[in-house]
Amino acid sequence: MTEKKNFAQMPDERGYFGDYGGQVVPPFLKEVMDQINTAYEEIRKTDDFQNELAMLYADYVGRPSPIYYARRLSEKLGGAQIYLKREDLNHTGAHKINHCLGEALLAKYMGKTKVLAETGAGQHGVALATACALVDIPCEIYMGQVDIEKEAPNVTKMKILGCNIVPVTQGAATLKEAVDSAFEAYLQDPENMFYAIGSVVGPHPFPKMVRDFQSVVGTEARAQFMERLNKLPDHVAACVGGGSNAIGIFSAFLDDDVNLVGVEPAGEGLDKPGRHAATLTLGKPGVLHGMETYVISDEDGEAGQVQSVASGLDYPGIGPQHSYLKDIGRVDYQNATDVECLEAFMTLSRTEGIIPALESSHAVAWAMRVAPTLAKDQHILVNLSGRGDKDVDYVAERLGL
Ligand SMILES: *Cc1c(COP(=O)(O)O)cnc(C)c1O
Repeated sequence: MTEKKNFAQMPDERGYFGDYGGQVVPPFLKEVMDQINTAYEEIRKTDDFQNELAMLYADYVGRPSPIYYARRLSEKLGGAQIYLKREDLNHTGAHKINHCLGEALLAKYMGKTKVLAETGAGQHGVALATACALVDIPCEIYMGQVDIEKEAPNVTKMKILGCNIVPVTQGAATLKEAVDSAFEAYLQDPENMFYAIGSVVGPHPFPKMVRDFQSVVGTEARAQFMERLNKLPDHVAACVGGGSNAIGIFSAFLDDDVNLVGVEPAGEGLDKPGRHAATLTLGKPGVLHGMETYVISDEDGEAGQVQSVASGLDYPGIGPQHSYLKDIGRVDYQNATDVECLEAFMTLSRTEGIIPALESSHAVAWAMRVAPTLAKDQHILVNLSGRGDKDVDYVAERLGL
């Protein structure tokens, strides 16, 4: 890096990270987004909000999550030393609870009467339903009928947690239709409802807010690494869907001389259009879900088809801050295929006794690929964004276990 950037002050007041982000929404919705931004900037500075969030992170989520030296995996690979940031140990099993608690709490402080969102595989839905039960605010989750049938355990969890599930039957009845329906419902009464976006995507201020809530991951990891090894990691890797767990851990290292690597899902291969979700590798700047960012689109300029073995990475866009970090070359965006991901899933399970989420397995796959090429005194920190309990049946069936 030749030029020093002031990353901490990003985005600008219009919500831009360089050319990306902003609020590509109708004027009345821009007004609502601006209200949320103003409220967020006020509330986040209060001791009440900060103390309550800190208490919940500690006593409810179980933070700080440890960093763990994966000795057996490192020895097996015979190169760099691999450490894992254990977001899989959080209550509800992934990093998503960090921003869902922040958003639910913000909605409550703003006096909103209902939180709503869409969910695909149900991970965001479960984390949000959990946060809303705790914070005591009604929660409504829109989910495609096809996904409802596929993801029965998560649907049951959301019901138990007291959330209202709205089945969406239009079109293909999966995530895209769920987004459309949830958004339509939100537009009926944006003054009283809060749309809790599930990653660092959407119109300003969501990419900023969700990043701020996830930055606890990087802040902890940086201090833990310094304390344990008296140096910073040489490489920090995270999987990238919308990009919240990645920006969460990267944010603490942006100003350091640390190689940051975002790992996108290459699905069945980068040469198979519609069968991967490598947005930054193969997409182009465009507009999606109220933001300017890299997008995978079809011939008509609509969001294109994407696929990954990890449903949480299956998104044709990406958080605008990642688009910016790619263009300036601060983060290196790599990718891993479904096959590499499954191999990493099994290897981590059998060398360390840790079953990772298929999403997180992409970052593990990258570490497994490069560790053997690096010297033994190099350190790789992998954000293990979630646990794989949700994926075991699928993997067993796919691998014939
Ligand atoms: C949802 C999910 C992701 C992808 O979301 P990001 O916003 O890219 O972090 C990654 N890992 C796990 C475990 C998830 O549940």
